[in-house]
Amino acid sequence: MNRKKLIAGNHKMYTTLAEGIQLAKDVHNLLKSKAEQVDILIIPPFTHLFAVSGILKNTPFFTGAQNCSSEKEGAYTGEISASMIHSAGASFVLVGHSERRNYFNETEEQLHQKIKQALNAGLQVIFCFGEPLEIREAGGYKTYILNQLHTLKGFSGEEWNAITLAYEPVWAIGTGKNADKEQAQEVHAFCRQWISENISAETAQNTRILYGGSVKPENAADLLSMPDIDGALVGGASLQASSFAAIVNASLV
Ligand code: PEP
Repeated sequence: MNRKKLIAGNHKMYTTLAEGIQLAKDVHNLLKSKAEQVDILIIPPFTHLFAVSGILKNTPFFTGAQNCSSEKEGAYTGEISASMIHSAGASFVLVGHSERRNYFNETEEQLHQKIKQALNAGLQVIFCFGEPLEIREAGGYKTYILNQLHTLKGFSGEEWNAITLAYEPVWAIGTGKNADKEQAQEVHAFCRQWISENISAETAQNTRILYGGSVKPENAADLLSMPDIDGALVGGASLQASSFAAIVNASLV
């Protein structure tokens, strides 16, 4: 199975609007000749989505949001719905990023609802999961991850066409310390097996599983060479067009 790689840049709560627009333009300029070979996704803050998706309209690049509401619409001051994100021109949304889980106490039930809203609005979902350091060190990471994967139960094979997974060990996010390629491959293969057993063998073969956690130009080629690593979710290194471009280029070797 030849899954096209996906490299996504999560800009988190960084950049002013002007900086975010410039970053998207720079990324596009550096990588426009590569977009046939690899899917490239820019995930800016909400306030930049409309402008950035406008810049990337009629290009093969994708725009995504970092979060969405678990509600369809209503009196939820400060929330942003999946259909608002879609109407702003985005085609992807992150669900379950560890910073949302940890700092905003998002539960598996809420995440399941968010995925539902996103799929109903026509968005593709990148579902993030991964274990904290103490669980990795105690050795129970597969059980922990299994629990997180249960959030994805109940979606049809067709809905899975719009679901991407992102394994992001919490101990590797923003720490400069990445999982090594064998550690990442082990979890990715484990997740693909889970999809095969719980959804279908075909879905398991088609679903992209990204790795995230301190991906940098120096370690990207190594991680992306593994058979079950289908791309990267990049935080810090996506804030500079040149380092993000180097990671995209590393996915092509
Ligand atoms: C992320 O934000 O999803 C992430 C992986 O961050 P970093 O690359 O900075 O570890």
